[in-house]
Amino acid sequence: MIRFALHGETGLPVDTGVPIAPYTTLKIGGPADFFMKAPNGESLGRILTTAENLALPVLVLGGGSNVVVSDRGFRGLAIKVETPTNLRNRGTVIYEDGQEVLIEVEPGCQTAGIARWTAHLGLSGLDWACGIPGTLGGAIAGNAGAYDGDMKAVVRAVTFWSPGRAGTGLPASRVCTVSGSEMAFGYRSSRLKSPGSGVVLGAELRLGRTSPAELLQRIDRFEASRRTRQPTERSCGSVFRNPPGKFAGQLIEQAGLKGHRIGDAQISLLHGNYIVNRGTATARDIISLIKAVRERVLLDTDIFLETEVMLTGDWSTDGDPLDPDDTREAASRVTLKATPVTDAVRSPLGERNG
Ligand SMILES: Cc1cc2nc3c(=O)[nH]c(=O)nc-3n(C[C@H](O)[C@H](O)[C@H](O)COP(=O)(O)OP(=O)(O)OC[C@H]3O[C@@H](n4cnc5c(N)ncnc54)[C@H](O)[C@@H]3O)c2cc1C
Repeated sequence: MIRFALHGETGLPVDTGVPIAPYTTLKIGGPADFFMKAPNGESLGRILTTAENLALPVLVLGGGSNVVVSDRGFRGLAIKVETPTNLRNRGTVIYEDGQEVLIEVEPGCQTAGIARWTAHLGLSGLDWACGIPGTLGGAIAGNAGAYDGDMKAVVRAVTFWSPGRAGTGLPASRVCTVSGSEMAFGYRSSRLKSPGSGVVLGAELRLGRTSPAELLQRIDRFEASRRTRQPTERSCGSVFRNPPGKFAGQLIEQAGLKGHRIGDAQISLLHGNYIVNRGTATARDIISLIKAVRERVLLDTDIFLETEVMLTGDWSTDGDPLDPDDTREAASRVTLKATPVTDAVRSPLGERNG
């Protein structure tokens, strides 16, 4: 019934019981009840409105590079945001003068691909994003950033799907366009960051002009820097937000946790704020490690580490992974059941990114 309604309203294929793991960089996550691919921003809006009319919970997946999806999967509709091949790594120039260039991008554009495309054209402002996996929709919603750059600095306008307020008498869902300054961008956050707040359907980016050679040189430097401090195993980027004035990775390293492992989930030997999947890690392993790290760091420093990565899906049998009281209570009992590592290597921390 739901499947037919989704297909009938959108004309797009609808699958059921689709494992989410292949659509995440951690390669973890159980099945979604319903699964659709949105080929562009316009169809993404149509799917979202249809799902809302069906009262169907929705999980929007860009590149899946900043999410941990539960082993039990997602009870609702998972939507993978895609882009026509010809626009995957490029935008459309809509205005240019001697100083600046405006480009329009789809939500499923690859962030790193767009960074490279703009560098080749001599358009400055996105070179820092050359190593960021995932889509521009995800990057804008989370105000992705690295090397002193972030999305906030280049976003001129965002078109997004805004949910209705069922049962409140307020208008149904609608598509809105707001300026970058109305996006409430902050440290790895925006007005569209929390689930249910809205979904990016497209954006205009404002870029400057610099020589392609200079931009490509900068990209080479950023890539070399990432090679030395970013794990190559499967991961989901930075797990924890940096607390004010501190670096989460440094706190984790100082707590002696680099290399600690639960199941196949391990705190990266290269960077304390990355958890890597050594092969067959489950979401439960990842969450157990997140909780263990929180407990230890809270005990050592009295700092509660907030997660940056989005924990999503059905946690009904694992307990609420986001419950801070759970951690505080556990910290008072002192537990760290991870396996100590024997071959830990010390490396300079690359804390500003990820
Ligand atoms: C190796 C590695 C390195 C990384 N380095 C960095 C870094 O230097 N800096 C940094 O900031 N991040 C970094 N990340 C994290 C991640 O790549 C970024 O946060 C990225 O922008 C997420 O985009 P995504 O499309 O993969 O989002 P997803 O992981 O698919 O989704 C993340 C969240 O955004 C939501 N979302 C996805 N698409 C949309 C949309 N169109 N509209 C609204 N919400 C949406 C999802 O529902 C989810 O809640 C890194 C990750 C990895 C694996």
